[in-house]
Amino acid sequence: MNVDSGEYDLSDLDDDVGVKRKIPVGSAEHRSRYEYRRIFLEVEDAVFGQPSLNSIDWLPRLPESLLIERYKTQDKEVITTKILDQTRDVLKGLYGDQRSRRHVEGLYFEGAMRFHAEYPVLQPLNTVFRGMGLDVEPEALDLCDPDVIDDELLIKILQNHSEVFLKKKEKFMSGLSERREVFLQRLQTFTKEKGIAVIPEDLQRKADELKFSFVDPLVISLEEVVGTYNPEEHHVRIAGNLKKGQVDHVVTHEVLHGVSGQTILSSKGLFEDEGEISYQRVGLRINAKGNHFKWLNEGVTESLAMELVGDNLDIYSSERELLNLLLTSGSTEISDILVHNAYFEDFDSSKSPGERIPAWKAFYQAVNQAYAPGFLTMLDAYIQGNGVKAGIDQIGKDWHTVMEVETRSKRKSRLKKDASISPEERQVTALAE
Ligand SMILES: [Zn+2]
Repeated sequence: MNVDSGEYDLSDLDDDVGVKRKIPVGSAEHRSRYEYRRIFLEVEDAVFGQPSLNSIDWLPRLPESLLIERYKTQDKEVITTKILDQTRDVLKGLYGDQRSRRHVEGLYFEGAMRFHAEYPVLQPLNTVFRGMGLDVEPEALDLCDPDVIDDELLIKILQNHSEVFLKKKEKFMSGLSERREVFLQRLQTFTKEKGIAVIPEDLQRKADELKFSFVDPLVISLEEVVGTYNPEEHHVRIAGNLKKGQVDHVVTHEVLHGVSGQTILSSKGLFEDEGEISYQRVGLRINAKGNHFKWLNEGVTESLAMELVGDNLDIYSSERELLNLLLTSGSTEISDILVHNAYFEDFDSSKSPGERIPAWKAFYQAVNQAYAPGFLTMLDAYIQGNGVKAGIDQIGKDWHTVMEVETRSKRKSRLKKDASISPEERQVTALAE
C-alpha cells in the first residue's frame, strides 16, 4: 500500500493484528473481560468526605490503646481535627486546581444553603448562591478556604454533601431502566425512519449490559465533560453535578457510545482465563498507533444525541460543524446514512475477509470519491496537528489545502526519519477495524 498518497488498501482491514485476534462483540470472551474489569470500579461509589466521617464515627468505639497507636493521642477532639485536616488538605488541593474548583464551591454552596441561618459565617455564600450578591462574591468565596470553617461546621457540610449526593444518586439509579427503554425506543424510531442499518437485538443487549456509575465530582472529576463511556468496562460514568435538564441528554450521548459499533482485539494469555482485549474501534473512533477520528466520533455521537433528545446543550459544536462540512464540501454530497451505518457497525468475524465491515468501507470510499483518495485520514492528521477549528477553516475555504499541508509534512517527516516504512505502518492505514 502507499501510505503517502493516502491509498487505503482495503484488503488489510479484515486482518488480525499480530497475535491479536478479532473477536465477536458480545461474545462470552468479550463479556468475561469487561466483567472482570468492573471488579476494580468500587472506589467510584465513594462520596467525598465519607471515609473521614466514618473514621470520626468510629472513634468512641475504638480502644484507647489503638487510638494512641494510630494517632499518638487519645484525645478524640484532637484526633477529629487531625482527620478533618486531611480532608481540608484535599479540599485545598482541589480548590487550587482550576478544573475542580467549582466542585469545591458546590460543596460549600450546598452547606450554605442549608446551614446559613445557624452559622452566620455562611451568610455571604448563601447570598451569592442565590444569585443576589455578586458584589460580595470574592469575600464569600474566601470561605471556600476550609481553614475558615471550624470542625463542627465542616462535619455538617460533609454530612450534608453525603446526604444530597446519595439522594441524587438514588434518584438517578432508580430511573435508569426507564431511561434505557426511552433511549432504545427513540433510537429504534430514528434508525427506522432514516433507514439506518442496525440490529435491534444487538442495541438492546448492549444497552442492557451497560453498567452505570453516578460519580461524585469531588472524588472523580470528569473534567470538562460530564459523562464518559469506557469500553474496557462497558461502563458509563455520569457526573453527579449535572443539572436536571442535562441528564437525559448526557445519558443519551454516553449510551450511544455504548451501543455504537466495535472492533475488538483479543490476545490469549498462557491460561484460558488470562489474556487482554483492546478496542481497535468504538463507533468511528479508531485506536491503532494512536487515536484517530475522535472528532468524527464525537461529532456524530452528539448530533445523534441532539436528534434523539431534541435539544441542544452546545456540546462538541466544532466537531459537529466539521462533520457537516465534511459531508457537504466535496465534489459530491455524502449521505449521513453512510456515516451512521458505519457508526453502528460491529466487526463481523463470521463473514469472509473483505466483507466484515462493509459500511465503514462504503463511508470511507464515499469520502475518497467526494475528495481524494485517503482524504479522511489526511484530514484527521491535519486536525491532530492543528486542532478542530483549523480543520473547519481549511475545509470551509478550500479542502485541497488540507491535502497539501499533510502531504508536505508527511514527506518532511519521512525524509527526517528514514526512507523505509516500518512494518507497523500497516496498522496506520489499517485504521478502520
Ligand atoms: Zn462522547
